[in-house]
Amino acid sequence: MAKPGYRVFDTQVGEISRLSPHFVRVTFRSDDLKQFGWDGPDQRIKVMLPLEASGFDEVPMAGDDWYSAWRALPDDRRNPIRTYTIRGLRPELGELDVDFVAHGDSGPASRWIAAARSGERMLVIGPDATSDEDSGGWEWHPGAARTLLIAGDETAVPAVSAILEQLPADARGAVFLEVPDAGDALDLRAPAGVEVRWLPRHDPTGGYGAELVGAVTEWADAWVAADPAAAAVPAAAPAAVRDLPALDDEDLVWEVPEAADDGGLYAWLAGEATAITTLRRHLVKGLGVDRRRVAFMGYWKLGRAEG
Ligand SMILES: Cc1cc2nc3c(=O)[nH]c(=O)nc-3n(C[C@H](O)[C@H](O)[C@H](O)COP(=O)(O)OP(=O)(O)OC[C@H]3O[C@@H](n4cnc5c(N)ncnc54)[C@H](O)[C@@H]3O)c2cc1C
Repeated sequence: MAKPGYRVFDTQVGEISRLSPHFVRVTFRSDDLKQFGWDGPDQRIKVMLPLEASGFDEVPMAGDDWYSAWRALPDDRRNPIRTYTIRGLRPELGELDVDFVAHGDSGPASRWIAAARSGERMLVIGPDATSDEDSGGWEWHPGAARTLLIAGDETAVPAVSAILEQLPADARGAVFLEVPDAGDALDLRAPAGVEVRWLPRHDPTGGYGAELVGAVTEWADAWVAADPAAAAVPAAAPAAVRDLPALDDEDLVWEVPEAADDGGLYAWLAGEATAITTLRRHLVKGLGVDRRRVAFMGYWKLGRAEG
């Protein structure tokens, strides 16, 4: 049997740095991480959080089928798993950076980050660089797109940061990032032709998506009016989009096209599910942008815990 493309990595928390009011960077360390892989810029990974009573004692680490064994555990003995993005990886040093949004005490991950301490143990599930299998788990496929539209909220900032860092110098497009606070606008590296617009939330405790939907709608309306052909069916359209159920949760939305060998628009939208769905609907139904040009990913849903 082929070695799976991802596995559980045993790590320790190294540095914890607060980047801004709502972003906290954690560097995980271990020799095990020297085998960690990174297949695409918006590569998702999972963190497995410790249980208060038993830490990681119950986690079935051994064997390729650890996931089924983990799922079979009773609720109170199953460590919560949450989805994050690789923000930095230095395999030669066995170091992995993850940027956590601190959103209060409503979920196990946000509670964990509020109290995280250097030296504590953490399990991370991610690509295994020693496997020949692709890990999957990344969705950035712009193909030969001429214009990029990238939109997300704070949970997508780590993915967008990594995407921007690997764009070619002549890339063109617009990036919209809604964040809780003006202080959460991070210093991102982007090509000169890609404008990055930060959108602080007017109500930092709610109103998710309002700024993003407003700004992206305005940009898209003007852009499609100026260049309608670039929004139409891609010349070399792939046969279908892939419909992926996200996080085993039918309420979350996820649809990602394969790369098209075509020079038009490519949109990548990620963040709170309702806001992202609204945006995608406006692009596809409102403006007639072909759905094979739009990747949209509900990274979380207001009022719903992951898992
Ligand atoms: C592919 C992918 C990549 C992601 N990458 C990152 C990343 O790099 N960094 C990151 O911080 N997040 C990222 N996320 C989002 C993260 O997985 C969710 O925010 C997750 O719900 C956090 O878990 P939790 O235990 O804190 O809250 P949960 O237990 O899942 O939810 C508890 C409550 O908190 C609410 N909630 C969840 N997230 C937020 C939020 N951000 N703001 C306000 N309320 C929230 C939920 O609606 C729910 O009511 C990513 C998600 C996906 C699918």
